[in-house]
Amino acid sequence: AKSGGRNRVVRFSPEMQDGAQKRRALSDDLHGALQRGEFSLHYQPIIDFADGRATKAEALLRWRHPQRGAIPPLDFIPLLEETGLIHEVGEWVFDEAAAQAERLARRLGRTVQISVNMSAVQFAAHGAGAIDWGAKLAALPPPDGRLGIEITESVLIEDQQRVKDCLLDFRRHGIAVSIDDFGTGFSSLSYLKTFSIDFLKIDASFTRGVANDENDHALTEAIIVMAHKLGFRTVAEGVETAQQADILQRMGCDFAQGYLFSRPLPADEFEAYLLASDG
Ligand code: C2E
Ligand code: CA
Ligand code: CA
Ligand code: CA
Repeated sequence: AKSGGRNRVVRFSPEMQDGAQKRRALSDDLHGALQRGEFSLHYQPIIDFADGRATKAEALLRWRHPQRGAIPPLDFIPLLEETGLIHEVGEWVFDEAAAQAERLARRLGRTVQISVNMSAVQFAAHGAGAIDWGAKLAALPPPDGRLGIEITESVLIEDQQRVKDCLLDFRRHGIAVSIDDFGTGFSSLSYLKTFSIDFLKIDASFTRGVANDENDHALTEAIIVMAHKLGFRTVAEGVETAQQADILQRMGCDFAQGYLFSRPLPADEFEAYLLASDG
């Protein structure tokens, strides 16, 4: 009775109603947002600890709402997934990142590997708007190390065989696979030996404590050792201080990403950043 009562109160509270209405309104506005050109990608540099250069980057989706301005991804990506719009938007993200990676290779004369985030829904084989990634990859010019995808552990427990085949397909086409937010997924570690993976991205919640929390320090170190033994390379996410970077580098972490190096940048600023740092 107590929890039922609480549910009723929550369901009819003005805040919730506002929340639900706001979500519905946002969700309506997402229809056609792609066609209206309201989406863009920002690129956050990923630094190779070996030489301090930005050799990789993560593409992050941005939505500029005509009235409300920039909407945080965590507010609209779940709506894209619920409405099924994630398929066409996700395909656009992939194509846009691929085009940017190609442009950068021409302008810089070197490879910058750009990875895109893919959520579980995007691997669905059926359903309205689902992408046939196999066909898409087959039609793609060879990406020559310029592309990667990032998936969370939850993707790997959805539909084992199907996701496994999909990941193999991506890797066969030379697209790197990263496990995102590693260590936060409440899943068993056994998938690490059955799926083809290139990088483990150590979640920012570990990085944050690496300098002053014994447990975070120990876990981060253990993740790096384990990853290397399994043949994966590691990327530390959310690196904000020089002290964190220093410790991570000494632990043998391979790459770092975070505000210490750069915030996610619009395409032109990202290119300028790379040109400047290449000297
Ligand atoms: P994520 O994949 O874990 O991306 C990293 C997030 O951390 C980004 O937030 C980035 O801006 C932020 N970040 C980077 N460095 C730092 C730092 O030093 N400190 C702090 N506090 N934050 C940092 P953002 O851009 O808001 O994206 C949030 C999430 O939205 C992403 O988390 C990802 O799960 C999702 N997302 C973004 N773009 C896409 C997309 O194209 N497709 C899908 N499916 N999901 C996306
Ligand atoms: Ca990511
Ligand atoms: Ca992440
Ligand atoms: Ca995340």
